[in-house]
Amino acid sequence: MDFVGSPSPSSASTSAPNDVTSQEHYVTSIEADHETTCWGCGVRLLVSPHAPVFKCGWCGAITNRNALKNNNQYYKWRRLRDRCFVVFVLLFMLFIICGGIWAVYPVVFSISFFWGIFHSTITLILSVSTLSSFGLASFLSPGVPPRILWGSYPAVGKGGLENYTFCHHCSKPKSSRTHHCSSCGMCVLDMDHHCPFIGNCVGAANHRCFIIFLISAVMSTIYVSTISFYAALHVWPPVNYVANQPLNRLLSYEVTLNFLKESAFALLRSAVFLTPRGRVLVYLFIASVSVGIGLSVLLWQQLSYVYRGKTYLSQLNASEGDGGERDCKNLINFFGCQYIAARYFPSFWNSRKTHEK
Ligand SMILES: [Zn+2]
Ligand SMILES: [Zn+2]
Ligand SMILES: [Zn+2]
Repeated sequence: MDFVGSPSPSSASTSAPNDVTSQEHYVTSIEADHETTCWGCGVRLLVSPHAPVFKCGWCGAITNRNALKNNNQYYKWRRLRDRCFVVFVLLFMLFIICGGIWAVYPVVFSISFFWGIFHSTITLILSVSTLSSFGLASFLSPGVPPRILWGSYPAVGKGGLENYTFCHHCSKPKSSRTHHCSSCGMCVLDMDHHCPFIGNCVGAANHRCFIIFLISAVMSTIYVSTISFYAALHVWPPVNYVANQPLNRLLSYEVTLNFLKESAFALLRSAVFLTPRGRVLVYLFIASVSVGIGLSVLLWQQLSYVYRGKTYLSQLNASEGDGGERDCKNLINFFGCQYIAARYFPSFWNSRKTHEK
């Protein structure tokens, strides 16, 4: 059984001969067409030798002649880099937790025992949720694509491999929802991106854990920055600065600038007398604010993709008008809260259901 592949732009341009010259061109083109075998179903196809990409008329599999197997010699280095990043992130988190407990707890327990227990509980909840979601995002498989029959004509039905391409690294079919990650060395279903900080891809199986980790980490950085600022105020040495000008004269720009400059210098002079505990508090504050800002931007970006029903990679590949449906239901489905939404917010849920079809 023969099936003709979809014509490429190069072969389609030679199909309307009117004079002798174009007739010769037409004949040459037909002679150049040659037989090849579809990788998806094994049927023979007649395609132009100039067509770099063609689609099987039976199973719908796409063949890309230009897709060559890339040299994967840096795979081991990428894995080593990922492992180093994961160890670094884990050590950083442990330092924030242990350093925070060592530096902050004497201050909060000196205020009251209840205040100390309250902060211990918050620290325990945030630490467990951040570390466990990080572990799940890091060590869960990002999502193995389902197995599909391929390679022989009777087994592969009409359109059975519609828009599948062939992954030359894994030697198996790859759907349009699947991408090959050269750092993980595998095909990943609904791949969002490869994150070196978790040493893993973010895909269908661990995307939720990754976003829960981001939410947890952002909440932790907000908490650490607030509590370390509060504790630093308690242990800060006295600032020896007396304003030379009365406050009602601060309206002048130069006087205000001078006042701010002298205050900053006085603060820096007093910082020299900070205890080691105070210096750790200052470091915790600066580190948690800067990491928190970066993670908040990443979390916002991730949630906006989920809201649009897309991943980072599908957003990159989508054309201008190919935007997904923007709906809060995408977020509810993503976090698996359909039952709660349908039970406690039935009016909201039913009104949104009209979008489904
Ligand atoms: Zn085929
Ligand atoms: Zn692959
Ligand atoms: Zn990866």
